[in-house]
Amino acid sequence: MENVYDVVIIGAGPAGLSAALYAGRAKMKTLVLEGTKVGGQIAITSEVANYPGSIHDATGPTLTARMVEQADEFGAERVKDTAVSVDFTGKVKIIKGEKGTYHSKSIIIATGATPRVIGCPGEVELTGKGVSYCATCDADFFQDLEVFVVGGGDTAVEEAIYLTKFAKKVTIVHRREELRAAKSIQEMAFNNPKIDFMWNSVIVDIKGDGIVESAVFHNRVTGETTEIHADEEDGTFGIFVFVGYDPVSQVFKGCINTDESGYIITDSQMNTNADGVFAAGDIRVKTLRQVITAAADGAIAAVEAEKYITHAFKE
Ligand code: NAP
Repeated sequence: MENVYDVVIIGAGPAGLSAALYAGRAKMKTLVLEGTKVGGQIAITSEVANYPGSIHDATGPTLTARMVEQADEFGAERVKDTAVSVDFTGKVKIIKGEKGTYHSKSIIIATGATPRVIGCPGEVELTGKGVSYCATCDADFFQDLEVFVVGGGDTAVEEAIYLTKFAKKVTIVHRREELRAAKSIQEMAFNNPKIDFMWNSVIVDIKGDGIVESAVFHNRVTGETTEIHADEEDGTFGIFVFVGYDPVSQVFKGCINTDESGYIITDSQMNTNADGVFAAGDIRVKTLRQVITAAADGAIAAVEAEKYITHAFKE
């Protein structure tokens, strides 16, 4: 069979790009299916301050650009294609993409996770018109306007802090009365005079004619429902949603074991239940989903894939 890769890596976030770097450096014939864009979640992250050794003021996109450069330097091929079906039953695995079919001796799944939505009326219609899931991409549109940030985890609180550089006021809307974010991040938010909190609250409706004009907030403790309208002068405000992520594992359903949420189950060597198929990064069941843990997973998966093919494809 012609053009069989040693490893096909599905996904080009920190896990996939790290795997590509390690696989390329080990002289494996490596292909990365990038989907529609490289970088994964950090492509829409304003600041990556906790990746050891990253340059001062590193952003998701700058860190990604360097990871891509390194993968390229070590000879990994990249293609903008999205896997639509897979067959992992044979010794040579088959991936069908939207644009082509790929054959490989081993696979590393690094498809990560995507942002969750609130799920209220108006959210979909007004996405990109005031509703956003990416502060880096959209903060600029809210210069001197008011914004609401939904969520209480690390992402919500960090991005709320970032948004204060643009917005005149940022209100964190959290469904409980205690943040989930790390204490150090919470402290920065509590000390920021531009940040306000709306506790025990959820957004139940977002309204506007082509642009967000108002939103309805429900207090889960008092039962009170309040509609907040944009300042007459401003005409609009922003709603940034950071309520967690869902794993991108649908295409592997039925052939790879996952937990009840869809995260792929692996051992510490990144082996899945299928021989020669590894998973790395946010897509797998793990306790800490960070750039550094994704990159580490990618390195382990590539090294294990190399060992696997040396053994399984021995002449
Ligand atoms: P997360 O930790 O899962 O937090 C999601 C937040 O959204 C929680 O506060 C949750 O409320 C809230 N939420 C979930 N569903 C909701 C809904 N339907 N309506 C309203 N609120 C909802 O997600 P994350 O903040 O994106 O972080 C993901 C992972 O990345 C975490 O492991 C985090 O530690 C890590 N991370 C780390 C950093 C850093 O260290 N610098 C930065 C970003 C992310 P409850 O609290 O009530 O559940």
